[in-house]
Amino acid sequence: MPPIFYDTHAHLDFPDFAEELPQVIARAEAAGIAKIITIGTDLESSRRSLQLAEQFPNVFAVVGWHPSHASEAPADFRPALRELAAQPKVVALGETGLDYHRLPSQNAGAAPADDSHYKLKQAELFRQHLQVAADLGLNCVIHQRAALEDTIAQLQPFAARVRGAFHCFANDAAAMRRILALGSLVSFTGILTFKNGQNVRETLAATPSDQFMLETDSPYLAPVPYRGKRCEPAYVKEIAEVAAAVQGCTLQELSERTCATANVFFRGLAPTASG
Ligand SMILES: [Zn+2]
Ligand SMILES: [Zn+2]
Repeated sequence: MPPIFYDTHAHLDFPDFAEELPQVIARAEAAGIAKIITIGTDLESSRRSLQLAEQFPNVFAVVGWHPSHASEAPADFRPALRELAAQPKVVALGETGLDYHRLPSQNAGAAPADDSHYKLKQAELFRQHLQVAADLGLNCVIHQRAALEDTIAQLQPFAARVRGAFHCFANDAAAMRRILALGSLVSFTGILTFKNGQNVRETLAATPSDQFMLETDSPYLAPVPYRGKRCEPAYVKEIAEVAAAVQGCTLQELSERTCATANVFFRGLAPTASG
């Protein structure tokens, strides 16, 4: 048996896949990607993700509202989140977190006050995910960009009850250690395979073998040799090859560790005794 892997972060509900989703999932299976976790980015996207998880046995859903779309979120997303989270194929909440990469003040006619309003809205939405996660005993898939300090500060009071998976991790080893100290994890994408991904490879090299997961973030971030094309879950294989080399372990060892980590992190992902 060739080693199996999971894609712990893909956006299968995006229109990029609408034409050929069964083929995309079949190619992933053929490449040894045994499970795919598809991630919602708003209410509709979360509902679609859950539908896909109900339709395909190897697909699981994470439901939430992405910080970049916070402006469109309802004042209180918690009731909808609780309802979605009650479904058995929902394995975590997200993606949630903070993203200060693009702020309103970069748009013409906007003022600095727009930035603080936007950040507050993101913070409120993130807090709602953390509260529901804490109430329901779920973990959170965390999107963080240019907002590390605020993200850590917001997670801190919940850290005893909620673990985060800092997805598409691209920060340095010092940041990684602070995240692990909170009981959270990191997760690596195809950036690992990029020529200019040396800093991310160095972070992975410093990450304990049982504290990280692998993901594609499909349809984004296709690994080498597919860079620039649409990414799909089958490409976890290319990411895993580089990750094993960086970690100095065999593909089999990487498979066992990353799948075991994901099986613990995501509720209900672990295979049951009946298979
Ligand atoms: Zn993200
Ligand atoms: Zn994502």
